[in-house]
Amino acid sequence: MEDIKAFILDVDGVVCRGSKPIPEGVEGVKKLMEFGKKVVFVSNNSTRSRKMLVERFRSFGLDVSEEMLIVATHATATYIKRNYGELNIFTTGEKGLIEELEEMGHKITDYDRAECLVVASNRKLNYDLMTKALRCCMTAKKYVATNPDRIFPGWDGPIPGTGMIIGALYWMTGRMPDAVIGKPSEIIMREALDRLGCRAEEVVVVGDQVEVDIVAGKRVGCKTALVLSGVTKKENFKTAIKQVSPDFVFDNLSCLLDSYI
Ligand SMILES: [Mg+2]
Repeated sequence: MEDIKAFILDVDGVVCRGSKPIPEGVEGVKKLMEFGKKVVFVSNNSTRSRKMLVERFRSFGLDVSEEMLIVATHATATYIKRNYGELNIFTTGEKGLIEELEEMGHKITDYDRAECLVVASNRKLNYDLMTKALRCCMTAKKYVATNPDRIFPGWDGPIPGTGMIIGALYWMTGRMPDAVIGKPSEIIMREALDRLGCRAEEVVVVGDQVEVDIVAGKRVGCKTALVLSGVTKKENFKTAIKQVSPDFVFDNLSCLLDSYI
């Protein structure tokens, strides 16, 4: 661990569960900063803008700048602009995503005028919104999803992720997204490494989901640590790491650092 210069930290299941902080996670982030390690957060959360996340961290007592955050919402807006230009977009997503899309120069339109469908979680998802998403999926030239998560760690247990909508649209139309931005895709991980200015072997990726965080870390050649403070638990981690094994497994972020000192 002495050669480690930087950490790429997941947010949900590592630092918090929904709006509730995980004390050991918050403590762990503070320790990392005290040690002078470089830190970026990479979050697949598709409902929060960077501004919202900065506020949330602040409410946990963590002083984190927008530059330290790579969020699926912002990364999606950037990816579309870089690869397709500024587009007319219909999205299933919430305010946080719309904020990032508009800030990037994209225009939010109704489903029948959209060049691009952007699928993301929406906690008010209903039949009407799914009908629009279905029609847009059948006609839009481009289809991008913010993240592939099937489930997310809510404060009182698992909640459906963006995968719920991707799955439903696939079942209805046979169409899968042209691009999925969040982890484990390399798109968002490369951006994190660029931001850190470090080589992959100097970086540890920490997360609570094997198929999301650990796979993402391995794809870009980083060391990986699974923490058991989110979706993956003590009871099920042995099954979870059968196919893809992290380099380390810890109860939480603080434990990881205690072993490091
Ligand atoms: Mg997570």
